[in-house]
Amino acid sequence: MLSAINMSEKTNHYIQLEDQYGAHNYHPVPVVLSRGKGVFVWDVDGKEYYDFLSGYSALNQGHCHPKIVTAFLEQAQKLALTSRAFYNDQLGDFEKFITAFFGYDKVLPMNTGAEAVETALKLCRKWAYKVKDIPHDKAKIIVCENNFHGRTITAISISTNPEAKDDYGPYTPGFEIIPFNNISALKKALTDKNVAGFLVEPIQGEAGVVVPDEGYLSAAKLLCEQHNVLFIADEIQTGLARTGKMLACDYENVRPDILILGKALSGGMMPISAVLSDDEIMLTIQPGEHGSTYGGNPLACKTAMVALQVLKEEKMAENALAMGELFRENLRALNSKHISIVRGKGLLNAIVIDHAKKDAAWNLCLQLKDNGLLAKPTHDDRIRLAPPLIIRKDQILESVKIIGNSLSCLD
Ligand code: PLP
Repeated sequence: MLSAINMSEKTNHYIQLEDQYGAHNYHPVPVVLSRGKGVFVWDVDGKEYYDFLSGYSALNQGHCHPKIVTAFLEQAQKLALTSRAFYNDQLGDFEKFITAFFGYDKVLPMNTGAEAVETALKLCRKWAYKVKDIPHDKAKIIVCENNFHGRTITAISISTNPEAKDDYGPYTPGFEIIPFNNISALKKALTDKNVAGFLVEPIQGEAGVVVPDEGYLSAAKLLCEQHNVLFIADEIQTGLARTGKMLACDYENVRPDILILGKALSGGMMPISAVLSDDEIMLTIQPGEHGSTYGGNPLACKTAMVALQVLKEEKMAENALAMGELFRENLRALNSKHISIVRGKGLLNAIVIDHAKKDAAWNLCLQLKDNGLLAKPTHDDRIRLAPPLIIRKDQILESVKIIGNSLSCLD
């Protein structure tokens, strides 16, 4: 039960409702939001905040982007869902649009990020048996320590975070976990002839925005090619302009064999995810062998097309690149004794808090909230700072000022 101290009656009311009737599977910052626009959100008492979480990077285009909202509303009034039992007049356009946008033969639309990861893993296994000729049920997929790929049984089976994993066994077999950012570990793992794929986040977001060494992704891709192993990039958090390029893999000119997208594919309107690959991989799945009631629904298709157009038209990758550099530079210039590391790419950033108290990062987030900026620790001592990509220079500077002022609560 949260204490009602420093909370308005309204705020307390909504928090108590969730506490009483909702599962306790989250530990939110005690703020109740009722409105969002661009880089800002407002709570039920009308207080304004910078949103430095951006729905875990689902709101790259900002809250309620007018073009996305308009497309969403127009389509919602025409046709929202058909199921894939029938064709609809948006899916084909979306498929043509997104495959050209990212340069792949085919797309498989799903809903949440975790479902897209599952889809990619299923595709990889099908390819292993139908194309690579790995003996039945022997296909292995390599994943990295400290990964985050979602909350399904398979995603937590490959997790190394006890909080996400414990007491959910038995776990899905067929995976090998190696250290992230370690090419020799990958080289060793690839000596097994039954390896079909390597699943990796180009930057580990949930782990605290862990950026691998330059050259890691391109070296990993080359090794995968040499061993006829699929390079599967989970760009659910890093993709769609967040890190300053359309994909984080673009930094090293790496073209994943399977590309997984989610989150900002809808600009925060609804869950939309997608898996992209070429025919050799995608056409291993036949009618009836995979699907989803909502996957590829016309409302999602229309929304995703506009969400992608807006990213490009408004040059959000370019802005993320420039604002990210300005942000990190100014955070470092704070010279705070409480920040041991400032790291990130584009507008996917984190600070690591150096403090004797274990809950220092949480307390800092509470202070940030009081001062008008919302963020949340990803692990005990790391705070991810990832505003919408439309943030302006003056807003970055004001945000750094808020962070600087808030840090004094840790003195
Ligand atoms: N993969 C990555 C890299 C993520 O960051 C996330 C969510 O944070 C997921 C997968 C899961 O996405 P969803 O929460 O939409 O299932």
